[in-house]
Amino acid sequence: MPYTELAALLTAGEVGTLQVEDGGGRLVGSLKTPLPDGASRVSATLPSRAVSLQDLERWGAAGTVVEVSSSDPNRSASQWLQAFLLLSAVGVVGFVFYRQSSVAMGHRFQATAPSRQLTMQSVGGAREAQADLGDVIAFLRDPQRFRAVGARCPKGVLLVGPPGTGKTLLARAVAGEAGVPVIVAAGSDFNEMYVGVGAGRVRTLARRAREQAPCIVFIDEFDSLGGRRGRPNRSGEEEVTLNQLLVEMDGMGGNEGVVWMAATNREDMLDPAVRRPGRFDRVVEVPLPTAADRLEILRIHAEQSPLGDDVDLERLAQLTVGHSGAELANLLNEAAIVAVQDDETHIHARHIEAARDKILLGRIRSGVVVSDDERRLIAIHEAGHAVVGLVACPEDRLHKVTIEPRGRSLGAAHFAPEADRHLYPRHYLEGIIAKALGGRAAELVFLGEEHVTSGAGSDLVQATSIARRMVAEFGMSSEVGLMSADPSAHGGHLSAQFQSRIDTAVHKLLEAQMKRAEELVRQYQGAVQAIADALLAHDVVVAADIHALAEEHGVPLSPLNAGTRERDLVVA
Ligand code: ADP
Ligand code: MG
Ligand code: ZN
Repeated sequence: MPYTELAALLTAGEVGTLQVEDGGGRLVGSLKTPLPDGASRVSATLPSRAVSLQDLERWGAAGTVVEVSSSDPNRSASQWLQAFLLLSAVGVVGFVFYRQSSVAMGHRFQATAPSRQLTMQSVGGAREAQADLGDVIAFLRDPQRFRAVGARCPKGVLLVGPPGTGKTLLARAVAGEAGVPVIVAAGSDFNEMYVGVGAGRVRTLARRAREQAPCIVFIDEFDSLGGRRGRPNRSGEEEVTLNQLLVEMDGMGGNEGVVWMAATNREDMLDPAVRRPGRFDRVVEVPLPTAADRLEILRIHAEQSPLGDDVDLERLAQLTVGHSGAELANLLNEAAIVAVQDDETHIHARHIEAARDKILLGRIRSGVVVSDDERRLIAIHEAGHAVVGLVACPEDRLHKVTIEPRGRSLGAAHFAPEADRHLYPRHYLEGIIAKALGGRAAELVFLGEEHVTSGAGSDLVQATSIARRMVAEFGMSSEVGLMSADPSAHGGHLSAQFQSRIDTAVHKLLEAQMKRAEELVRQYQGAVQAIADALLAHDVVVAADIHALAEEHGVPLSPLNAGTRERDLVVA
């Protein structure tokens, strides 16, 4: 019936129950008394959502029971949901095909634009690596010359070294020097859970390389692709991918002019097959930079940033033993950021120092409230490290001592080795252990057994791990003697008895150095107290001041430490 008639019945109170359906688009009423034609159920349609809450209330007041059925709108919502799910399923399938298709591969394995290429000028240090790569460069520049005398070019070069030592940089520099394109891929580009995708990508890469030849293919983080086959956690899919790579390399006769380069910091993880002749048969070591290398690297990276007169890069190079090229670049970058925040146009020594602290120890945590009691404890602890370190580790130069809470530490005594070391004499290692235990020793002497704190936790980790290596690797204990604990020397398995001998020896070594540290703190108690007081007064005490205080209280200083009396020690 038309809506007007139904509305009249509603107003007359003739409708017993009224169902509002379809979100207000349809009304179905049961009449109290049937119509003349016998019908007791009537319905009317009206524009969707035309029924308002007021209407419902009005009809209710007229004696009608109003039910709003929610089934219809709901059904349409669930239809939407179904449609959505179907569409997304189609989308996922499509995406998978897209990723496998050559459309997506078009963006992958593109050669680096010549304008972005580097030369060896941007690589500091790494002398041997640069020399080793010389003939690769010569070959790529003029492959004909090599072919004329029947010489095969190195087909694969493996760059091996710790992270951040410039392996990627070297590969790009080789390409730049030779003036050829470089196609960069990462080992993880080939890791894919779908069967055959990884191998397909290797084929794509090889095809690209042939098209571009002469060129360099550089595979970074190679271990995730070239890892040992048959390892327990290696999937069959990864092996297929590696096999495909080896097949592609073997298939190139050496006169296509494609040089494969790969970088890894885990040479031991690589499958031996990778290193066969005709594959990655040339290994170029890229070690951590030496002091002279670090200076070169710092100079290269300092070129873009204006340095203040007070910055001494030579001194900084000495202070950064063990830093990789990437870490040095990062240090200068952080210093530049600090300088900008400081509203300076030049990077000054204090900016570099702040950047070093931030990187080594984390930011100053201004939110940390350290009580006066705690500050006193920390000052004593750090002063203990400093004094014991000065005496027991005369080879290392003290840099500064702080009690600023930073990152996870509450304070620190910074020492820097004077030179790069390759061999560690026993007395040096023992000195390092004593220095690490110096904090706890000072707590013990100044506060007593009952009051030692948890502050020595990480010191103990350091001391223990050095002691364990002395015992188990370097043959420096009488209990274990010259027996190495390397499992490979024991058929893969150490006896429980042997392990307990190691534990005993480690324990004894730590005890001895603890005793030594404690004696040193007692002997130079005045110096520890004076340095602690200075720390409480200034938060940071630089080397020159520590040396003066130590000397005043009779601490013998090594020439190394005594030599740094000038007050404005660079980067201090
Ligand atoms: P790796 O590949 O060995 O992990 P990278 O080549 O990626 O190291 O180095 C990262 C960054 O660190 C480089 O882009 C460069 O800025 C800097 N760097 C590393 N080593 C050197 C170096 N020997 N000379 C100059 N810069 C370096
Ligand atoms: Mg790299
Ligand atoms: Zn400590």
